[in-house]
Amino acid sequence: MENSLEVREDVEAGSESGCKYILLIGGVLSGLGKGTIASSIGRLFRSHNFSVTAIKIDPYLNIDAGTMSPFEHGEVFVLNDGTEVDLDLGNYERFLDVQLNRDNNITTGKIYDIVIKKERKGLYLGKTVQVVPHICNEIQDWILRVSRQRLPEMEADPEICLIELGGTVGDIESMPFIEAMRQFQFRVGRSNLCVIHVSLVPVIGTAGEQKTKPTQQSVQQLRALGLSPDIILCRSTKPMNAEARLKISNFCHVSYESVLGLHDVSNLYRIPQLLYDQRIFTLLHRYLNIPMRKAVDFDQWIELADTVDRLSGRSDLVVRVAMVGKYTELEDAYISVCRALKHACYWLKLRVEVDYVEASELESAESASYERYWGLVRGADAIIVPGGFGDRGIEGKVLAARYARESNKPYLGICLGMQVSVIEYARSVLGWEDANSEEFAQNIEHPVIVFMPEISKVQMGGTMRLGKRRTYFRNKRSLIYSLYRRCFGGELDWVDERHRHRYEVNLKFTEALSRGGMDFVGQDETGERQEMVEIPGHKFYVGVQYHPEFLSRPNRPSPLFYGLMMAASNRLGEVWGEAKE
Ligand code: GLN
Repeated sequence: MENSLEVREDVEAGSESGCKYILLIGGVLSGLGKGTIASSIGRLFRSHNFSVTAIKIDPYLNIDAGTMSPFEHGEVFVLNDGTEVDLDLGNYERFLDVQLNRDNNITTGKIYDIVIKKERKGLYLGKTVQVVPHICNEIQDWILRVSRQRLPEMEADPEICLIELGGTVGDIESMPFIEAMRQFQFRVGRSNLCVIHVSLVPVIGTAGEQKTKPTQQSVQQLRALGLSPDIILCRSTKPMNAEARLKISNFCHVSYESVLGLHDVSNLYRIPQLLYDQRIFTLLHRYLNIPMRKAVDFDQWIELADTVDRLSGRSDLVVRVAMVGKYTELEDAYISVCRALKHACYWLKLRVEVDYVEASELESAESASYERYWGLVRGADAIIVPGGFGDRGIEGKVLAARYARESNKPYLGICLGMQVSVIEYARSVLGWEDANSEEFAQNIEHPVIVFMPEISKVQMGGTMRLGKRRTYFRNKRSLIYSLYRRCFGGELDWVDERHRHRYEVNLKFTEALSRGGMDFVGQDETGERQEMVEIPGHKFYVGVQYHPEFLSRPNRPSPLFYGLMMAASNRLGEVWGEAKE
């Protein structure tokens, strides 16, 4: 019985490793902000000098989020190792200020993939392979493995492992995970696992009555599956009253003090404080039997929340950004770009307002929203063309890039946005009217953007040029270099940023483009793949093949977003002054 031997070993290892597990499971409905709540709890521990790690479980069959449309799931976030994940992992990275890897995200697809591969190798020794125990064991093994991996930013092995189960109790998809966690409480010992149920308390009627029935029912569902919540966090539009708390406590088998209200707050950086003020930290310490530690940087976090509030009322500090993209109906599609803009603005004490511009609507005066969208582009203080795939709206993006270049308006092109700026330059400045990307046009004379030789044309998942890669500066008198130097401090030869693309600037045309005035500021280690472009003499016209938004942090904005916001508020002179010193 290979399995039971493994289990016995892990019971000891689990309780001895010293790691404590906090499991968050949602109820009633999705979209309650479980990810932000889990990250906020992680922030509390991190701010009190605990070593933290996090696992997001996505109970879908996809191996990863790489093949999913942003229309369905919002942005695809990319980790250092190139794993394409749900945007929640971005929240974890920003809140915890860590860099995660593929193991920090579990999907049903990944678990089944392991089990099926093992079965094909005959590793189950003739047994019938089943959800219980094989799938459930694999889930638990994965969690145990991650909880022993120290993240690079931490000084010790994980002391706290946050586990967020995506979806809602009762979903068919999440059943194996709930069963795995039911078993896991015995595997690591009940005192090493705290179960937090995140639910909703709707407020209805003119009297604003807080209704607890949905929470009672979702807790019942959870308990029927063998997991009993230790803490219940109730999302609500307004602070929870004592009556509702008492009711939930009585009906859901938790103490009164373990029912906490999470009402709407002015900004998301308030959530750690809101949790702290309701003594969740004390509760968790007690449940998990861990000694208290002094706060190290929690004040800075509160200060950040205060800054955001202060700025929100200041219409005189507004910087308007036109985001010219394709998924403009869905704000989540560009969430990291928006966060990166905000981070830069907190730093510069500005307030950013993003106007989403549907690129395809800019293409023809016949379009219903042509005037309105061009009005937003013209009225903007800065223009961003973010990453994207497929040809819809591409000509509109080219027009927006042209407008930015010709009118000296700050422009940041990210990935596809950089490719668009090269296409635009080739057409308008070099006069190559047919210039385009091979992604959108074939058999043309000037394919200025081409398919990368190493990329597969058949396999779609995980086959792009992905993850953290190095870019070497060729031109250290460039604006891009000055910005990185200012933000990172000191001389730099290279920077690491995260990538996600299949196409690149065509080496055949870079010389002509350079002669025409486009400055290719940085390349990959071969010196041939273009990563950074700018146009000298323009106020701020920058394109990068990578996604600078993924490594931006509230306390450490990305240099390029910082530069864009400085240019938009006419403060870039400071950076140039510094570069000349
Ligand atoms: N579609 C382009 C490529 O594959 C750009 C990708 C992106 O913007 N992430 O290269």
